[in-house]
Amino acid sequence: MLKCDMCHKPLKSSRHQIVRGPVTLTVGPDCFKKEKEAAARLADPTYQEFMGWMRANKGGSRPCPAGDFPHNFNYWREGGRW
Ligand SMILES: [Zn+2]
Repeated sequence: MLKCDMCHKPLKSSRHQIVRGPVTLTVGPDCFKKEKEAAARLADPTYQEFMGWMRANKGGSRPCPAGDFPHNFNYWREGGRW
């Protein structure tokens, strides 16, 4: 039985390929969607700015009132700081 390379659940009829440099992952539709969302986020300048803020302010070491990612990102984007 072929398994998803990301979540290791058995792959059903729908499978997708993700190319990461020299590695090709075979994944199910859920992980493929997550990967595409992650790629879109990385290309988003607002996300880059958020990561810069997180690094500069050590935002990851304090609990955000909105919760973990992606809630903290949405909170930050709306002007929230912690
Ligand atoms: Zn998966």
